[in-house]
Amino acid sequence: MIPFLNLRKINARFENDFKNRFEEFLNSGQYILGNGVASFETRFAAYCGVNYCVGTGNGLDALRLILEAYKVLGKLKEEDEILVASNTFIATILAIKQAGMKPVLVEADASSYNFNIEALKNAITPKSKAVMPVHLYGQIAPMDPIASIASQHHLLVIEDAAQAHGAVWFNGNKAGSLGHAAAFSFYPTKNLGALGDAGAVTTNDPALVSVVRKLTNYGTATKYVNDLLGFNSRLDEVQAIFLTEKLSLLDADNHTRRAIAKRYLSEINNPKLQLPNWEGGEDHVFHLFVVRVASRGRFIDYLKQHEVGCLIHYPIAPHKQKALEEFSKFHYPVTEQIHNEVVSLPMSPVMTDAEVSEVIAVVNQY
Ligand SMILES: *Cc1c(COP(=O)(O)O)cnc(C)c1O
Repeated sequence: MIPFLNLRKINARFENDFKNRFEEFLNSGQYILGNGVASFETRFAAYCGVNYCVGTGNGLDALRLILEAYKVLGKLKEEDEILVASNTFIATILAIKQAGMKPVLVEADASSYNFNIEALKNAITPKSKAVMPVHLYGQIAPMDPIASIASQHHLLVIEDAAQAHGAVWFNGNKAGSLGHAAAFSFYPTKNLGALGDAGAVTTNDPALVSVVRKLTNYGTATKYVNDLLGFNSRLDEVQAIFLTEKLSLLDADNHTRRAIAKRYLSEINNPKLQLPNWEGGEDHVFHLFVVRVASRGRFIDYLKQHEVGCLIHYPIAPHKQKALEEFSKFHYPVTEQIHNEVVSLPMSPVMTDAEVSEVIAVVNQY
């Protein structure tokens, strides 16, 4: 059986380091917001090429706390319209709803699986105040047109970089540094994954970072002095320590993911599959390798029979979810087609060449 993703094998590479660092952590006696968090924040900010990073409890909170902080700063308010991709993972939309703002879902492009730029332009109203590009599947969103639309309409640009740690835009800047602020998730399956929940906000804005930092910790900068109605969403100390260890292999891992993607793209030749569009640059870190197949159920059964793992990201479009019933009257035909046809093939930095060859052979015989 070729697993879709072998997390045990990914983390086994760090086993000794994790055990040593855990012992230091245990002996330190400082289990919340210790040196581990501070040190990871410094390193991750430097890695992304920004001045600031604040750890959070998870990626959803990172997204939400950016919006909450902009409310505190008077740059956003409730009922403002926030433009977001209609085919994103639901967390991006939940963050907007939780902050009391109005998500405006923008139809996807059938080849990039990201914003349809014309649809993005058409969705703008006088109430639009921010755009949240999602670097879906690990590929950076079309940031040049997004930036020019945003500056023309005075929109804040908030990246959902939860799937794109280490991806590099064509100007050399990394995901996490391409807008006014960015949110990351370190959920265990992400390219930089913790051993539990974890997230972060990155930005160059000192005012934003100081509010986000307070909001993660009860609205305080000084203990028991509450400036704001805060939350409790701190990056866990032990997760920060593990993440610091793993950060050292992120670039190599992303390189391996791209090498696997190159093999899939050049060796999969089954016309029943539509392969991802990618020019071969570092703008894609292949968090997922997503193909499209017309009769997906049959393809998935076939993969199962031949012991190739796969998953669907994601089976139900956000506007078709019960939790987002308010959007059920809208039609996003491209998004719906994407959700009906996508299948994610095995992709991880610990796949062997033989496993990659086997996936290719099985897929080509379908
Ligand atoms: C994983 C993910 C999130 C949420 O992260 P959590 O840490 O699970 O809260 C948000 N957006 C996208 C695109 C994601 O893939």
